[in-house]
Amino acid sequence: MTDKVSAEVGGPVKVDAAFDAVKSACSIRCIEVVRMEEPRPTILAVELTGATRKWHLYIDCDEARLRLPWVATQPPTSPLAHVSYSGAVCIDDGQGLSLDPSRPAEIVAHAALKAYNLLEKSAADAASGYVEFFNELEGYWLHLPGSLRSRAYFEVDGKSRMVKGFVNSRLKTPNWYFAEPDADQPWDVRQEKLAGQRALYVHLGALELPPAKPDKLTPAFIEAVNQRLTLEQLKLWDQLLGPSKNSPKTLALLVSVPRQAGGLSLVAAVFGARAGGIDKSAPVTPLTMRRHAPHYMRERGGASLELFGKHVAVLGAGAVGCVVVDTLAAAGVGKLTVVDYDEYSADNVFRHLLEPLYIDTPKPFGLNFALERRYPGLRITPVTSTAQEWWKTADLRHYDGIVFAFGAPSVERSFSRVLKGRQHDIPVVFTWLEAMDLGGHSVLMWTKGEGCLDCAYRDDEGLPSQASRTSFLEPNQPVTRNLTGCAGAFVPFGPIQARKTGLLAAEHLLSVMTSVAAGDEAPKPSYRFWAGDGTAATEHGLRTAPWFQTARTTSFEEATRMVFGRPCRHCRTPKDPSA
Ligand SMILES: [Zn+2]
Repeated sequence: MTDKVSAEVGGPVKVDAAFDAVKSACSIRCIEVVRMEEPRPTILAVELTGATRKWHLYIDCDEARLRLPWVATQPPTSPLAHVSYSGAVCIDDGQGLSLDPSRPAEIVAHAALKAYNLLEKSAADAASGYVEFFNELEGYWLHLPGSLRSRAYFEVDGKSRMVKGFVNSRLKTPNWYFAEPDADQPWDVRQEKLAGQRALYVHLGALELPPAKPDKLTPAFIEAVNQRLTLEQLKLWDQLLGPSKNSPKTLALLVSVPRQAGGLSLVAAVFGARAGGIDKSAPVTPLTMRRHAPHYMRERGGASLELFGKHVAVLGAGAVGCVVVDTLAAAGVGKLTVVDYDEYSADNVFRHLLEPLYIDTPKPFGLNFALERRYPGLRITPVTSTAQEWWKTADLRHYDGIVFAFGAPSVERSFSRVLKGRQHDIPVVFTWLEAMDLGGHSVLMWTKGEGCLDCAYRDDEGLPSQASRTSFLEPNQPVTRNLTGCAGAFVPFGPIQARKTGLLAAEHLLSVMTSVAAGDEAPKPSYRFWAGDGTAATEHGLRTAPWFQTARTTSFEEATRMVFGRPCRHCRTPKDPSA
């Protein structure tokens, strides 16, 4: 070794120690191991003898990022599961890994044995039909030479059909997008004003093996897919190629195959066509598909597919309401109606989810614009009128739930009375914040049966009261702080309090909707809350009600009994159904 080499970071000492560790780990397992020449000073190269072949392993001995070191093998002559096109071995599944950084040689040995075990399994997989390889097909496709990133906005559901392709060639590397022909164009396609072209999506029972290094994807792969098409699929193929007299063109073919591990793999390629057939001289470009479809993303992200068909109205799109809207959307609710006549203002920015760019825009329009891009498949109907105006034409049968997040008790109590005694039974949540850091509330009632918001407005004897018995604040205290005279008055609470309360209300509604739909519980009213520590409120001289102290040791069940134990005069005898 020259001085130059030994001065490299890591260096031969590290590699020697790593080899000793690999050797002793192999001897325990009776695996024959031979050291090979290092391709680089910090890479350990070893040959391990497996059941059917010898594995050349190259292990990075300079891994300093507390991950398993990078491991590669010689690119196999035909593809192997968990080995990339260029030979990288995917040993790190990132699950619960805990490495001791003071023992780097042992980490290298651990990685070497892990790679060996994986490669032995992959070789067995290759000998028995490549099931595991095809489970990981999309990952392999990503590293094929020249593979382009592309997006599928349609659901990959195994139903062969024509889709619409769009290519953005203005980028350094072109981007492809695919969508249903009759669907709204994805916003990135719309924004770039891309022209659509025919593309074909086919589902096959199985697929040819993709090329191994140094081979590339060729027209032969497209030909092989064509050979597997059914008569129905061949009709679609003819549509893709179009009339034979046309000039040469570039076409996109998308193929899904079943994954034994569940779901479907999707790969695609762009190829040339001329005279009604595949152009054998034109290049074939692999496309790595990223699925942007509503169902797929909901499933992968842990959102609910059952909620995708649900429609919830949120009245009030302020600091609490916007969190309710965002949380319902993230949980998977597919349709939201957002009602608020207020415009977004500079005062809102730090306790709202919308960007300042929406200032002077009605809040429902801002949420519609921002969140439909944020959550694929979400539909938000913005209503820029008062809740009372909205109610005049609203049909309860179109909704699966309603949330009132105005923080205006008198408006909400009048809605509670109007909504009571309906034929159509849906849950209605009333949510509001207390001043400063006191906490927040969520009262849930059903439009049929007993239990309503007025139940909370009674004293200990059950007589009607102006103040809610859920209030953390002693009644009749001014809490609105005044910054710059009357026009600068604002309700004193912070973004954290607003978010906690919005989250509480959204979770309350969703848990009730879900458990009632599953038959786990009958529709019944309930009350939830969170109590803060109240330090800021005390500092500002606010006096709290006894319930504020009791609340912190009271369960939701007990609190629900306190509010709804006996129905009040507004919900005791249901009125005649009027809807
Ligand atoms: Zn009541």
